[in-house]
Amino acid sequence: MNSRSAPPKLKILILSTPVGALGSGLGGGVELTIANLARELRSRGHAIDIIAPTGSELGDLSIIQIPGELQLTAQTQEQAASIVMPGDPVLANMWAKARSIEHHYDIIFNTAFDWLPFYLTPFFDRPIAHFVSMGSQIAAIDLAINRVAIDFPGTIGVCTRTQAETFSFADLCCVVGGNGVDPAVYDYCETPEDSLAWLGRISPEKALEDAVAAADRTGIKLKIMGKIQDPLYWDKIQRDYPHAPIEYLGFLPTHELQQSLRTCRGMLMTPRWVEAFGNVAIEALACGVPIIAYRRGGPAEIITDGKTGFLVEPDSVEGLIAAIDRLDEIDRADCRHAAETVFSQSAWGNLVESWFYQLLDRKHAK
Ligand code: UDP
Repeated sequence: MNSRSAPPKLKILILSTPVGALGSGLGGGVELTIANLARELRSRGHAIDIIAPTGSELGDLSIIQIPGELQLTAQTQEQAASIVMPGDPVLANMWAKARSIEHHYDIIFNTAFDWLPFYLTPFFDRPIAHFVSMGSQIAAIDLAINRVAIDFPGTIGVCTRTQAETFSFADLCCVVGGNGVDPAVYDYCETPEDSLAWLGRISPEKALEDAVAAADRTGIKLKIMGKIQDPLYWDKIQRDYPHAPIEYLGFLPTHELQQSLRTCRGMLMTPRWVEAFGNVAIEALACGVPIIAYRRGGPAEIITDGKTGFLVEPDSVEGLIAAIDRLDEIDRADCRHAAETVFSQSAWGNLVESWFYQLLDRKHAK
């Protein structure tokens, strides 16, 4: 590519997660990541197509719908787990489709945290930018990613440095950010009511029970929003804290989510695992809602302690309670400002777009 000419408009093929249809919530943060990135890149004049499981919906974005059985989510499996494919895997069907149309595109953006796309990488002509949205979960997947990191330098993109460090090949990963919000989609709220929020997939690695325990102890209402991925886990929390002042609002679309979130004094993030990024953190910031999070994984790189929230000792409910007491020290305008600048959709678009150009430059230089 000639560096003096204007950067070219690209044709980009996005491969979605195979664990659920877009819009179902089963894919977790990757769903919003794809939506925001596709809209941002399209607004810059790039052409975008998305391949995703049948039933996917993403507003005005066009989707190539692929049938097949969903993959198991990696976070529910052991490190030593084998790679398992169902009889008619949507993941394989999506990548077969990608192979049949790859020559219509300049670059492929993979968001599946699964073995197959890494294994298939050498069989594609077009460069694949792998957006790795989790830390190390399964040794077999780590190995497949590691091979690609060596054979296709620069193609492994991760959200945060802490996430990269869960892999033995951290130095071969490029930190490309996890997502960025469009501030126009979230309304800023200066004067909250006396309630807290907790958002996310309701699944053990998110440790919702710690936030419920903090609500139970402080008596402050906790609004819970998100997909119930593990119903038995959710039932247990309700049984363990029968009198906690919690309200479950369901899995809400973004415009409703921000309406309930923005009126909260603070949001609690209680991950037991190393969260790669934490979309809900930047959504809270966009509403002006400070975050109290365990000092672990992505949230610890998103939150500025004492300015946009508080980072507390991991797994300490006491720490959450002490920070709740200090929420009024945070200027909510600082939270909104962080979402408008560092964590905006356009800032993230800059990072990803330049990553794509670098990969294409490398490919052309070969
Ligand atoms: N979310 C949503 N509706 C809800 C609660 C959450 O759409 O009621 C979305 C939220 O916008 C975010 C995602 O769920 O994009 C959770 O992503 P995050 O990165 O926080 O965690 P992950 O699920 O990827 O581990």
